[in-house]
Amino acid sequence: MRTIAVLNQKGGVGKTTTVANTAAALAMAGRRVLVLDLDPQAHLTIHLGVEPAAVSGGAYHVMIQATPMDQQIMMVRPNLWLLPANIHLVGAEAELAGLPERETILRHALEAVAGHFEYCMIDCGPSLGLLTLNALSAAQEVLIPLQPHFLALQGFGQLLQTIELVNRRINPGLKVAGILLCMYDSRASLPQEVKADIESFLANARGSGTAWADAQVLPTHIRRNIKLAEAPSYGKTILEYDPACNGAEDYRQVAAYLMATEHVQATTRPHD
Ligand code: ADP
Ligand code: MG
Repeated sequence: MRTIAVLNQKGGVGKTTTVANTAAALAMAGRRVLVLDLDPQAHLTIHLGVEPAAVSGGAYHVMIQATPMDQQIMMVRPNLWLLPANIHLVGAEAELAGLPERETILRHALEAVAGHFEYCMIDCGPSLGLLTLNALSAAQEVLIPLQPHFLALQGFGQLLQTIELVNRRINPGLKVAGILLCMYDSRASLPQEVKADIESFLANARGSGTAWADAQVLPTHIRRNIKLAEAPSYGKTILEYDPACNGAEDYRQVAAYLMATEHVQATTRPHD
């Protein structure tokens, strides 16, 4: 199972949209996909058409009460399963702090189901707290969605430091797989500047031995598309809401990119 944490401690950059729609595209392409909602706001859960108030256990039970993962996941589409979130997850950060092995609970919970899925994508909340550390400890790869505006790289250093810390202490195989530019407006000049900034930063990191030494800006970006913002309120992925729109096309490209790197991922990861 290829586990990808979708992470950026900034809110509103496209994390949840990316998890819901990339996972849906992977599932439609025949991959068996598990998505985890680790954000107490439960946006991924809502996006996939599940009412958080109707979730009795979900991610909270897995993280805090050691309920086995397979008892809490639900099939939400063909080939697509969800570990839903509900309001109880708000308290999980504080409760996790008092638990032994508090950073690797998710990793152990996922081990039991790893044989059933080809992909696991984790939607993180806008923080670098314990839930996010659990996602980083459980993942092999991090995908960082970034909105290319003028503060895009603010906080980026802290994000990479956190990844590096987990990489050194808990999860030596962890790699930053890539940076996905979301809400991209090709008419503006700024996105291209931000993209160039990131690319030169990453170029400097080549051979550095850090978790992001091989990271790249994904060759495909997500264009700003109002349909992507409308789809969640209907509990639909973009592939259901408007399969012909730019947003659907862009997320199919992200899924295609991931599938094209399946072999690379499998052969360059001797630690796993
Ligand atoms: P995050 O999970 O990082 O907080 P979201 O995925 O929820 O971010 O996106 C923030 C808001 O922007 C949501 O309302 C979402 O529907 C909208 N959105 C995300 N991607 C796009 C896009 N490419 N074009 C237009 N709106 C988008
Ligand atoms: Mg979100």
